[in-house]
Amino acid sequence: QAKRQGRNHFHFYSADISDRFHESVTLRNQLQHVLEQGALTLYYQPIVRAHDHAVVGVEALLRWQREDGSFVPPSEFIPIAEDTGQIIPISSWVLHQACVDGIKLQKFGELSVAVNLSARQFSRANFIDSLSHTLNLTGFSSRLLHIELTESVLMEDTNRAFQQLQKLRDRHFVISLDDFGTGFSSLGYLKTLPVDILKIDRGFIQDVTENDDDAAITRSIITLAKQLNLKVIAEGVETPEQAKFVEDAGVHYIQGYYFARPMPLEQLLDFLAENKVSGSH
Ligand code: C2E
Ligand code: MG
Ligand code: MG
Ligand code: MG
Repeated sequence: QAKRQGRNHFHFYSADISDRFHESVTLRNQLQHVLEQGALTLYYQPIVRAHDHAVVGVEALLRWQREDGSFVPPSEFIPIAEDTGQIIPISSWVLHQACVDGIKLQKFGELSVAVNLSARQFSRANFIDSLSHTLNLTGFSSRLLHIELTESVLMEDTNRAFQQLQKLRDRHFVISLDDFGTGFSSLGYLKTLPVDILKIDRGFIQDVTENDDDAAITRSIITLAKQLNLKVIAEGVETPEQAKFVEDAGVHYIQGYYFARPMPLEQLLDFLAENKVSGSH
């Protein structure tokens, strides 16, 4: 109402905030039961090698399907789950499910499974032990489990983050820096941080063939990563032109709608049966 009246800016603004507040309270309540209801699933998006487009692994992406069939995007419910602490049981479920599913992929080749980690999960004292426990239970290998973290997760408590990363490294987990280039951290930290892979943020790839700045940034990230002995994944590649650009720039791996969208496990198994897989046996 206040929106329609539009009498002054304040009314417009407060109505908007209150709409969003109600939406978030509703989501928060619904989110409480998602695990018991089995409303969460993992979708998987293939990641391909640049030079021959063979699939080398997948990224697990969380999906919440409501009773009416609609999907709530992770960008909406993960921040809420972080707030309420529900991210902890949800993340445990994600890790366990990704490992169970990861085992099923091994008949196609030595495929890695990447999972996204939230700050809250990463900073937990028993996180690495529970991770090892999950691997023992499922029989999945730490070398094939890629842990994706954003710069912001690492910047919350740099010393502690560094220790956690080192422990993960000691246990042979592979660590990826997600959405790379969007944080404001100094590049110097890359030299000492125990990470293995940089994922160039989709935001740079989107206009990489038209925008000289994005092109320069993308090329620079790839060059930098190579000099530091890191592997690079370009995220969000949607067109053959973008794929060609990042390949010419020397990227190692590519992920994006151009090759495959995130899909349920059953569909992924069909996809892997029909496409070239790296190290297949
Ligand atoms: P992310 O880890 O950077 O994941 C990549 C996102 O880009 C995914 O969105 C994927 O569907 C999307 N994407 C991939 N290729 C393309 C493309 O070619 N074009 C476009 N337009 N988009 C593409 P999604 O699945 O909505 O996930 C969004 C974010 O939610 C993820 O970003 C990640 O930060 C978070 N997330 C997803 N699953 C989990 C999870 O299990 N745990 C945690 N903590 N976070 C998760
Ligand atoms: Mg990710
Ligand atoms: Mg990303
Ligand atoms: Mg992202």
